Amino acid sequence: MKITIIGTGYVGLVTGACLAELGNDVFCLDLDENKIALLNSGGIPIHEPGLEEVVARNVAAGRLHFSTDVGASVAHGVLQFIAVGTPPDEDGSADLQYVLAAARNIGRHMTGFKVIVDKSTVPVGTADRVSAAVREEIAASGATASFSVVSNPEFLKEGAAVDDFMRPDRIVLGHDGSAEGLRARDLMKNLYKPFNRNHERTFWMDVRSAEFTKYAANAMLATRISFMNELANLADKVGVDIEAVRHGIGSDPRIGHSFLYAGAGYGGSCFPKDVQALERTACQFDQELLILRAVEAVNDRQKLVLGRKVVASFGEDLAGRHFAVWGLAFKPNTDDMREAPARVLLRELIDRGATVAVYDPVAMAEAKRVLSLDFNAAELARIEFAASSMGALEQADALIIVTEWKAFRSPDFDQIKARLKQAIVFDGRNLFEPEQMAANGIEYHGIGRSVLT
Ligand code: NAD
Repeated sequence: MKITIIGTGYVGLVTGACLAELGNDVFCLDLDENKIALLNSGGIPIHEPGLEEVVARNVAAGRLHFSTDVGASVAHGVLQFIAVGTPPDEDGSADLQYVLAAARNIGRHMTGFKVIVDKSTVPVGTADRVSAAVREEIAASGATASFSVVSNPEFLKEGAAVDDFMRPDRIVLGHDGSAEGLRARDLMKNLYKPFNRNHERTFWMDVRSAEFTKYAANAMLATRISFMNELANLADKVGVDIEAVRHGIGSDPRIGHSFLYAGAGYGGSCFPKDVQALERTACQFDQELLILRAVEAVNDRQKLVLGRKVVASFGEDLAGRHFAVWGLAFKPNTDDMREAPARVLLRELIDRGATVAVYDPVAMAEAKRVLSLDFNAAELARIEFAASSMGALEQADALIIVTEWKAFRSPDFDQIKARLKQAIVFDGRNLFEPEQMAANGIEYHGIGRSVLT
């Protein structure tokens, strides 16, 4: 099938590359000329395992194209995926300006029938606004093209995006039941047929329910994280090991093991903004979401937990102190630093006068870019970008771990001890066992692991 993807970011690039891998002929459009130039020169703008190979293979096969040409790109596909960003507006609601601009571009340039697929995460009712924007442009141009807007929220996880897209546990699709909607449904059925060979993974529903499903999923996952973080903070006070509790409750199939890890708070481009956007939708309908308000508040507080533990050990004034920080990306296997807990920790350490040496296996280039926006030149001078995890430790008063990269899981503890000025580890992801650290002669501060002995 001929497909156009509008927005070549995490979701758009992965969607475009994977749909090309299935044999479709895909145009990826973006307004960012640098990004398209990079892709056209064989580069990849994001770190995502396996993506580079899929892109290279499909470009070579002539099935995947990158373009900034709006007219040519819209003309190409019968399916027009909108995969642009929906960042939070000032009040936390989803800013739909990019989605609506993409919709208007489709309306302005379309000729024949188009299925407009909302892949961006958008609030309930957005499909109607997309339809209205497209209709306005068609009317202005005097054309008679018909179209249908379908909701197809994306559930891929950064760091495992290609795998998630190629092996989805579900495909959610909403159509409006009109004649055009039914035509759109048939085309989408065909597109996703390869994923439904073993068993049906597609859930068809009305458009508004499909839009809502994405928010419900992210809100549920964020709730589980904040729930465990809140219990972990209490566990620290009452002398309980939250890891033992996690096993104890996760083995109940009604609860399950996923997303029960206590830590330094959730970040990224999705959970924080989607929780906020759902709260805003609720406000607009006079329906306060008490649980989600608490989920957000708990997470904001959790991002401060590592800093608080450092202060509890070293005092409020950290001038003259030097810390090693392992992990900057908001989670492993990505270089994405949007809303990353490491940024909150670094702000606190720098504000309290400390110097830091930071290391991330993949996000160093992105960290340099992002931290140069977060900090002024004098502050940046107190942040050293280390060349290796062990290199970051030299003469540090303590090691602070913020992201659970696999490469951090089995370090050489003797080397850690030899390089640190004091053998102290603050572990924001509970990578190690307190007993193991005690046996290695390392003072260990996990999250919710202060068992009374
Ligand atoms: P992103 O910021 O990585 O990419 C968005 C891209 O859209 C950018 O390259 C931007 O230049 C481009 N763009 C903006 N306006 C455009 C226009 N009018 N025409 C062409 N290109 C345009 O965003 P992302 O992380 O891929 O997220 C996209 C959407 O998918 C968001 O709604 C997000 O909530 C949702 N989502 C993201 C993830 C994720 O893990 N990142 C997962 C599921 C859903």
